[in-house]
Amino acid sequence: MKYVLVQADGMPDRPIKELNNKTPLEFADTVTIDNLVTNSIIGAVNHIPKGLKSGSDVGNLSILGYNPKNFFTGRSPLEASGMGIDLNEEDAAYRCNLVNIVSNNKEKIMDDYSAGHIDDSIARKVINFLQEGIDNEEFKFFPGVSYRHLLVWKKGDTSPITVPPHDILGKNISDFLPQGSSSEKLNKLMGTAREKIAEFKKLNKEYRNLPFNNIWLWGQGRKNILPSFESINQISGSIISAVNLVKGIGKCAGLDVIVVKGATGYLDTNYSGKVQAVLDSLQKHDFSMIHIEAPDETGHDGDYVNKVQAINDLDRKVINPLIKNLKKKFKEFKICIVSDHPTPIELRTHSYEYVPFMIYDSRKSISNHNQNTFNEKTVIRSDLVIEDGFTLLGRFLKD
Ligand SMILES: [Zn+2]
Repeated sequence: MKYVLVQADGMPDRPIKELNNKTPLEFADTVTIDNLVTNSIIGAVNHIPKGLKSGSDVGNLSILGYNPKNFFTGRSPLEASGMGIDLNEEDAAYRCNLVNIVSNNKEKIMDDYSAGHIDDSIARKVINFLQEGIDNEEFKFFPGVSYRHLLVWKKGDTSPITVPPHDILGKNISDFLPQGSSSEKLNKLMGTAREKIAEFKKLNKEYRNLPFNNIWLWGQGRKNILPSFESINQISGSIISAVNLVKGIGKCAGLDVIVVKGATGYLDTNYSGKVQAVLDSLQKHDFSMIHIEAPDETGHDGDYVNKVQAINDLDRKVINPLIKNLKKKFKEFKICIVSDHPTPIELRTHSYEYVPFMIYDSRKSISNHNQNTFNEKTVIRSDLVIEDGFTLLGRFLKD
């Protein structure tokens, strides 16, 4: 028996006027998913326990069966693990975004949390330039993917209050800079980084017009230690993602983290390479999770056209070839489609509504409903609501 979990990051949304008051998932042309749904269990699930902030860190832990209340120690240690950085127990890891901040009537406004989805190679140059320029043993920068980088603060403090930059788009940053004990150090570092980035742009005029001029530090925490997925579930598995956070959770969980060339975490990702990686890994393992980031990113962009595209691609370029090949190669399999959290277009950040999930079993119909499409509205009609999202995995892997 093979189990494939498809994590459509941030896919759930709210009705959008321009889409005839449909959600992007409702509006998208999801022929393959809808073909499966009539024989599937559907329901709504909550991956963000009360008191925790909605995000892919908490959400993916829950999806992989870990109760975030017991196992969440901050976002960045998970990303560090995905980047192959071994933290010491007393180190503080911070997420370091390359961002664009613009001046408007004496206010400084968070304009772009993603530096226009900057190219890895350019971002790497910027981060390396920062590291050389800052020359401080206490702080070490590590370049990651696109705008997502990491700062390790040796024997650092994790107590400052920080805010994700995607939560303050269009807002005055002065209300959201790191606060609390030892936050001056971080604010000073961000100030120095601003100067260094300006210097970098002077030296590299070809990048002058790209939308980045600052770093933003957030999502801090200390080293995360998880019991292995295999020890809990008695099967081994793999994880396929473009995103270091998700790779990091996989690594902490002892899953086989498979790197796919051309996986970008955006609409231009290498879908077929990722699907192939799932199929290949199932020769060795019984479980594989494929993470698709584009619905979340397009939600943050506030771009409903692209979000619908991301969901169409999920159906056509991920679920369709997966099902075809699973049928051919393995015959008996289950597939679960779920999301970590909603990323509504109207908010451009994560929210807390329960998310749709479906479980399909190739051996038999396990339907608990009479719906023929899969979306935020139809799953509610099934009456299946899972409050403790981390228990969904056990349900999926059962028999
Ligand atoms: Zn997100």
